[in-house]
Amino acid sequence: MNASEALARVPKADLHVHQEATRYLDLVLAEREGREPYDWAAWRRELAAAVPPGKERLQRIGSMQPVPLDHDADEELFVARFAALMRDHAAAGAHYVEIRCGGEIVTRDGFMTLFRRAEAQVRTEFPLLHAEALAIVIQAGQDPARADGFADDCVRAAAEGLAGIDFLYAPYDTEADWTHMYRLAERFADAGLGITAHAGELSTANIAAAARMPGLTRIGHGVHAATDPDLMRLLVDRGVTLECALTCNDFFGVLPELDEHPLLRLVEAGVAVTLATDNPVQLGTTIEREYAFAASLGLSIDQLTGVTRNAVRAAFTSPERKAAILAGLDA
Ligand SMILES: [Zn+2]
Repeated sequence: MNASEALARVPKADLHVHQEATRYLDLVLAEREGREPYDWAAWRRELAAAVPPGKERLQRIGSMQPVPLDHDADEELFVARFAALMRDHAAAGAHYVEIRCGGEIVTRDGFMTLFRRAEAQVRTEFPLLHAEALAIVIQAGQDPARADGFADDCVRAAAEGLAGIDFLYAPYDTEADWTHMYRLAERFADAGLGITAHAGELSTANIAAAARMPGLTRIGHGVHAATDPDLMRLLVDRGVTLECALTCNDFFGVLPELDEHPLLRLVEAGVAVTLATDNPVQLGTTIEREYAFAASLGLSIDQLTGVTRNAVRAAFTSPERKAAILAGLDA
């Protein structure tokens, strides 16, 4: 077996993918209408030429909406776009994917029923795939009343199967005020929701605050911790798993002080890492490409298999589903 065959056989998992709502609607509609989908490679080329790497380029994520979001009103299209994302992952070797949704998507009437319908559709073709949904709580500190209302909805959705919460906030590259987010996190943890937060993508800011958040077990990105031994020790001590998105970090140029991505350095320091596509349509990546990227940085096949096990261990899914996913990995 050559290296690429060995890599293809590694079961994969993605704990950090955004729903990319209009991006996936465009893909689904393009196929139905027999037209080409929006040209994301051209979008990336233009963005890279026009906007310098770092914060400014990162802020352009989500700025292009190729089709109106109104299409989401059509239940069948809504299911189809989630199924398309899940199918892309399953076809790339994923056994598990967690999809995070911003806005009011998860509080839509019957959201989890529609999400499970998409999952069931994909499982007829890829029976090993499992999927869960996360809600993104945005700017909780800046609009606490609105955040509290959304939190009520998320706690209700937890009873219907919503798996977890992701926190996004500003400032992102300097220390934010976590007071209100901690308060919400306690409620989410009591409701049995898994908790993650974006941090450490542009700088080391917010990594320590995130790691100490009540109920938090994962951090989205967190890669700047590799520049600070104390932060890496904090992540290890608190058992925090990082969701690393290599193509995303590379394209947005968020690690200018390093000539190579520090994934291997994190692994060698004992930090639990997983791999993620983040925004696969916009970035032109798949979870298989992320594993190949990690292999190119020096991770062995055994380490990559370990990365998937880290993901299952850190997954925001039920013990029954975890056992089923683990059985699938062993098969
Ligand atoms: Zn993200």
